[in-house]
Amino acid sequence: MPCSLCEAAMVDYAVPGSLQQFAPDETVTVCTNCLTIESDAGDSTAEDLDAISEELPAGDAGVGVVLLVDLLDALATNRSEIEELVDQLEDEGSDPMLALDRLAEDPGLDPAVDIQRRSTQLQQLVL
Ligand SMILES: [Zn+2]
Repeated sequence: MPCSLCEAAMVDYAVPGSLQQFAPDETVTVCTNCLTIESDAGDSTAEDLDAISEELPAGDAGVGVVLLVDLLDALATNRSEIEELVDQLEDEGSDPMLALDRLAEDPGLDPAVDIQRRSTQLQQLVL
């Protein structure tokens, strides 16, 4: 099923248990172009995150960063969740802020969320 915003291909990911609270569903479908997330009622097919961007961290952290981008769309509303998610990703050894910067600069993406701007706002909130 193509993305409802930009009609690019979408891929399905099973959301890891530790990240479930940040996701709209147990399985999400993510647009490979604009990073829009929709809950997915279908069978989970855990695909390689490289289908979205090679800049994403591998494994669960990559899914976490994708969820983070989605939450950033409403930074004020989701502030506590965002802070919790960033903390959790950092605790697990990844660098979500760096991952956001890299995603923002990925020429293969056209994110629906202005990642660069949101990331700057987030840093002002968190630091
Ligand atoms: Zn899209």
